Amino acid sequence: MKILLHTCCAPCSIKCMDDLMESGDFEITAFWYNPNIHPWTEYKARKNTLIEYCNSNNIDVLVQDEYRLRRFICDIYPDFDLKRCETCYRKRIKRTAECASEGGYDCFSTTLLISPYQKHNMLRQIGLEMEEEYAVKFIYRDFRPYFREGQRIARSMGLYMQKYCGCIFSEEERYTFSK
Ligand code: SF4
Repeated sequence: MKILLHTCCAPCSIKCMDDLMESGDFEITAFWYNPNIHPWTEYKARKNTLIEYCNSNNIDVLVQDEYRLRRFICDIYPDFDLKRCETCYRKRIKRTAECASEGGYDCFSTTLLISPYQKHNMLRQIGLEMEEEYAVKFIYRDFRPYFREGQRIARSMGLYMQKYCGCIFSEEERYTFSK
């Protein structure tokens, strides 16, 4: 099956892609669409790392380059705290499902499902909603048991490793609240 795999970053993608490829059931196209990552230098570092990783592993990659800080802030306003992640997930997974449908893919998924730091059940729920809305199958996998191994591999390969989830609010939480 042709799968459009939303990829949040290279380190999280490694084991998700390995798992899907090892099953023998999927032909993967990595999909970059992450308007939630700020600031610009961080966005560029994560995007370029993913592209380089895909190119060196012969994985097709589709890039939707959209850095819109102001738009993202407006989208989540006024829920800067509790509800911002739902809006953020919805935006990215919806675009993935939409592109999968328009591009003739059989299914879609997201590497966000590997992170123990994300709201896993919410991601699954949104994926299923988008499956219905766009009539393209959502492949749900609990990739979380592979998270540490994926991070270890990424580190050993010298890939760029981010220190926070993505938005400026998560950056603030990482560096200010953890002091
Ligand atoms: S913390 Fe992460 S998932 Fe939540 S809004 Fe920020 S970038 Fe998106």
